[in-house]
Amino acid sequence: MAKEYYELLGVSEDASQEEIKKAYRKKAKKYHPDSNSEEADEEKFKKINKAYQVLSDEEKRKKYDRFGKQGVNATGSGAAGFSNFEDLFNTFFGGGGRRRRRQKRGQHLKVEAEITLEEAYKGVEKTYEVTSRKKCEECNGTGAENGDTKTCPKCDGRGRVEKVQRTLFGRQRTVTQCDRCGGSGNIPKEKCSSCDGRGVVEKQEKISFEIPKGVHNGQKLRLKGKGHEIKDGRPGDLYVFVRVKEHPDLQRKENDLFTTIKLGIGDAVLGAEAEVPTPDSTAKLKVPRGTQPGQVLRLKNKGMPKQKGSGHGDLYVKVDVEIPEDFDEEDREFLEKFRRKPERSKTFFETVKDLIN
Ligand SMILES: [Zn+2]
Ligand SMILES: [Zn+2]
Repeated sequence: MAKEYYELLGVSEDASQEEIKKAYRKKAKKYHPDSNSEEADEEKFKKINKAYQVLSDEEKRKKYDRFGKQGVNATGSGAAGFSNFEDLFNTFFGGGGRRRRRQKRGQHLKVEAEITLEEAYKGVEKTYEVTSRKKCEECNGTGAENGDTKTCPKCDGRGRVEKVQRTLFGRQRTVTQCDRCGGSGNIPKEKCSSCDGRGVVEKQEKISFEIPKGVHNGQKLRLKGKGHEIKDGRPGDLYVFVRVKEHPDLQRKENDLFTTIKLGIGDAVLGAEAEVPTPDSTAKLKVPRGTQPGQVLRLKNKGMPKQKGSGHGDLYVKVDVEIPEDFDEEDREFLEKFRRKPERSKTFFETVKDLIN
């Protein structure tokens, strides 16, 4: 049976508790949805938590080793575990007197940006008009008329409330943010009339952002703090979903581009210089003598810019050879010479080449 939990934490099945804890800390920090890391991933973070809840408890771990997930799910899951991210975060990263409070966050804002391949090639700045919740200017985001506030009666101005929970393993004390004042310790004397005490109002605004060169279709860009704002907490993020439109002549696969050009029979046989479309203009391609129909030539570094590292992908050019439909008597006589099967080892064009040379 696959030991998924061990894999999630990246430890071996005989890892010590110390190793498990260490591995967990590292992973949790990396994927924590509030972390600044590029890899912040709430889903993954939850999975890592679940894995840690089980593996850090020797009883559960034994059951998991023997019966897999079924074994641990059957035992009233997570009774001794962390009831939420906040507890867990405090336990590991806050610690001691300076407990870190998990701040509330506004909703994320989503924008779909449709760009051309040329824009993806060069990078582009885009501006969109969006409706988002912004801090109310009348009350400076406090939600209180004229900014007048009073001490929150629920938490006595502390911003936090204590809760004692009974679990299978005894009493557990948790501290959570006061829901009445949202952790600020103050509540409005009177609700702000502009925002009805919400501290935020809907606003139409223009947002601009940079789409980096080399961006891929379906890529998601995250702009921290550019989402909806809320009264007591930090703003959400803005997610830009990039859609790169198809190009009429160029197909893309990762950083490489593919195109097809048409050549006359003479150019294919004798060699030529051809113009090939690129996302921003054209490139010159040297077609060697005796190029076969369907042959693929490569233009190095003429593909899309790489997002990681430097340089470009390549541009692959497939050569289509056009067979003439119209020709004069002279051409006909010349072509008559090819009215035979090519030798098995030679292709048609090689035969033509031999005849010309
Ligand atoms: Zn207001
Ligand atoms: Zn309060």
